[in-house]
Amino acid sequence: MDMQAVLEEIHEAVRPMIGSGTVAEYIPRLAAVNPDQFGMSVVMNDGTSYGVGDCEVPFSIQSISKVFTLVLTLDRDGDEIWTRVGREPSGAAFNSLAQLEYKRGIPRNPFMNAGALVVTDHLLGLSEAGEQPLLELLRAEAGNPAIAPDPLVAASEADHADRNSSIAYLLSSFGNLRNPVGDVLAHYFEQCAIAMSTRDLAAAGAFLARGGIRQDGTPVLSPRQAKRVNAVMLTAGFYDAAAEFAYRVGLPGKSGVGGGILAIVPGKCSICVWGPGLDSSGNSMIGMAALDEFTSRTGWSVF
Ligand code: GLN
Repeated sequence: MDMQAVLEEIHEAVRPMIGSGTVAEYIPRLAAVNPDQFGMSVVMNDGTSYGVGDCEVPFSIQSISKVFTLVLTLDRDGDEIWTRVGREPSGAAFNSLAQLEYKRGIPRNPFMNAGALVVTDHLLGLSEAGEQPLLELLRAEAGNPAIAPDPLVAASEADHADRNSSIAYLLSSFGNLRNPVGDVLAHYFEQCAIAMSTRDLAAAGAFLARGGIRQDGTPVLSPRQAKRVNAVMLTAGFYDAAAEFAYRVGLPGKSGVGGGILAIVPGKCSICVWGPGLDSSGNSMIGMAALDEFTSRTGWSVF
């Protein structure tokens, strides 16, 4: 298969959609991003990479960071995190706190904000002072030492944090945060504010397509753990649109309100697509369409 040609065909097919959807308005700095952008990258399991459009433009990874904080937690502390967070789909918005009250502070899964805040708290407890495990992982896997948070995005989110603060205080009231609420939120906003291109992210996620193993044969995760991360991406990566993504695309994936989506074809490749315009669930509209085109054209889906 000529992957570069496939990506170029997809780019043509989705071109009329460029700019559609709504940029994330609740984080003013993200609302200022030019919506007329589109990029897509594929990293094959043999390491070859392909890209089209704005595939080298850094964007805010937002909730895609949640995949990598979960990976780090599983790697450092095994299944311990599952005593604090569930792994069932929520059927609710990414920033919902409705279920937290009756689940007594145990979030439904690690990919909604409530769950990610607990994962961030857990990872903080496993890290040395001053250590930046997420940045180190992303830089190493993407092969790009320049990857960093955008401080303006982090500050913008911190300035408009009523919702995430409410979730964090509710978690804390149930005893499911071990660090001060302010510290957990600050780390969470920094993680979400990391800027990467689709090329960086497709490369950073490639171990998930290789059963947890890097191209050089060293492990990031065991095959069993990688299988589980992919399973949670499939069932919970898109909040109340997880089933819609499975229906249209049929791959494990994770979206972010910066407009990125990371998707994994186990055994074959890692894909990242970006377009800032979101649908009502907070998932990139053009990203969904491009991945729908990708799996329909290649036949590469888990179904
Ligand atoms: N930083 C965002 C928030 O907490 C992440 C949400 C997302 O990407 N879905 O609201």
